[in-house]
Amino acid sequence: MTNKEVSMEVREQHNTIHWFRKGLRFHDNPSLLHALRTSRHVYPVFVMDLDFMKDFKIRSGANQWRFVIECLQDLDSRLRAYGLRLFVARGNAEAFFAEHFRKWNITQLTHDVETEHYHRFRDAAVRKIAVDEGVEVVNYVAHTLYNIDKIIEYNGGTAPLTYRQFQKVLKDFGAPPQASETATAEHFASCSVPLEALRDERYNMVTLEELGMRCEHPSKFVGGETEGLRRVEKHLQNQGWVTQFEKPKTAPTSLLPSTTGLSPYFSFGCLSVRHFYHRLDKIYAKAKNHSLPPVSLQGQLLWREFFYVAAAQTPNFVVMAGNPICLQIPWYENREHLRRWRNAETGFPWIDAIMSQLQQEGWVHHLARHAVACFLTRGDLWISWEEGQKVFEELLLDADYSVNAGNWMWLSGSAFYHQYTRIFCPVRFGKRTDPDGTFIRAYLPVLKDFPAQYIYEPWKAPLDVQEAAGCIVGMDYPFPMVDHEIVSQQNLELMREIREQQRQITLLTLDLADRLTTRLSLSPQSSPNDPSINTQREETMRAAPVLREAAGRGNVPSTLTTTMRS
Ligand code: FAD
Repeated sequence: MTNKEVSMEVREQHNTIHWFRKGLRFHDNPSLLHALRTSRHVYPVFVMDLDFMKDFKIRSGANQWRFVIECLQDLDSRLRAYGLRLFVARGNAEAFFAEHFRKWNITQLTHDVETEHYHRFRDAAVRKIAVDEGVEVVNYVAHTLYNIDKIIEYNGGTAPLTYRQFQKVLKDFGAPPQASETATAEHFASCSVPLEALRDERYNMVTLEELGMRCEHPSKFVGGETEGLRRVEKHLQNQGWVTQFEKPKTAPTSLLPSTTGLSPYFSFGCLSVRHFYHRLDKIYAKAKNHSLPPVSLQGQLLWREFFYVAAAQTPNFVVMAGNPICLQIPWYENREHLRRWRNAETGFPWIDAIMSQLQQEGWVHHLARHAVACFLTRGDLWISWEEGQKVFEELLLDADYSVNAGNWMWLSGSAFYHQYTRIFCPVRFGKRTDPDGTFIRAYLPVLKDFPAQYIYEPWKAPLDVQEAAGCIVGMDYPFPMVDHEIVSQQNLELMREIREQQRQITLLTLDLADRLTTRLSLSPQSSPNDPSINTQREETMRAAPVLREAAGRGNVPSTLTTTMRS
């Protein structure tokens, strides 16, 4: 709809609460736009419901809160420029709405569609209150490229569980819908907030102090739509980089993000993925050639979408037990090992530098995430991906329910990823793009004076070299907590065994084409025309409903359990 049409439209005279959760923006926010178009009074609300977060075990560290508060401040100042404000409510969301639907004489509630199970649960409860109070509820999809329920419906009620399958489904869907127009002065012109509410200090901005939190390090990612859009524009100016972008070629050791670094903005919805996707389209259209999914920039947005779809349809997606697509692995429980990994004390500088970057800044490159996730799980420590997921959820600025769980399952070899024989070496991986160890020196200053020869393996440096570097291994920096060569080999054997026992689960997220590659890479004699591959695929499809049903009951078939290693 054009601006002209908006002004010509017959306006309804609602009193509306627009409920911001994610979607912290003016651009491509159709539910906000709807509120503005149909209302006399609009109350933009953000509810800080800490008990809800506790109940659903949603973790959020100080850096993440700082980012969110910056987003809310940005939103508030933009709303104030048009005579509105942001109401930051504290406490239980349902109680807030039950009280304020009456207090503010509300007739309409607008909000984005969210797909996480806890959002759906809470939205259903709030909708019920709204219906009881005669309040109309209006919502639109804007956090994802597509309406993911529609994708699932189109795919026969199941989520495509491989990227290739997903792409096939999208081919029929066509391009994602265009972003809706940005809310501007014209949209705000006929909306106001009654003066009394505008001045009510109970809904003033939250602070870190109020939350009892403090950030130790300055922020490299300032939250908010204004900053997010500025960053997008800056990237899009570099059209050569945009068109040639190939994710695997970006460096995890770069001190500034070698990828876009936009993930925190997408996660909290300061930036619309549809906006970015279609801006990329325009640049691609002008280029002679450009990279393609899965490695291109649009391909990255599709990965995000892929995990959203998988998460929406898979029971217990963020845990292992009862999750039908996830290998059931008897991980070790070792609190001390987990603590050392989290606190950047593994004794492997490459791993510790990444964990230190995560603690300080809340963002690390995708391949660096690969390195630490593999190390924690199938590579070295054999600790459950759920533990890593929890740490990431708390420390990442871009923590995202679906994407985090999906990637952790991937890296731990529990689902989606089948080249499990590839274990990342905590010494060689970083060296490839940063032989001098600049990244390690930046994030582990204790090692900054080690010569390049030993920076990835300081324990191998002769004592006089350690003394000259001002860091004695065992005193100033720990020895490696495991022998990588030995444990990775043991873990590999264990993983092989588990995959063999739970073959049907592995096949659920394995494409036929991937299966051929895996098979060929493991056994050069096997033929791509091997009929057993099709048979196995059929077996898997037959097994799927059984697994789903079992997962729904919260248990997996007993034949799928493995014996715990001592
Ligand atoms: P770019 O490469 O510039 O990509 C653009 C956007 O595409 C990203 O901002 C993101 O929204 C999306 N994207 C890129 N890679 C992926 C991917 N592999 N899966 C899904 N979406 C992707 N990303 C999160 O946003 N939140 C998380 O909680 C999260 N947890 C992760 C946990 C692990 C163990 C791993 C290995 C990866 C995780 N990722 C997560 C995915 C990925 O690492 C980040 O999205 C990416 O590094 C963000 O940097 P960027 O914005 O520069 O990405």
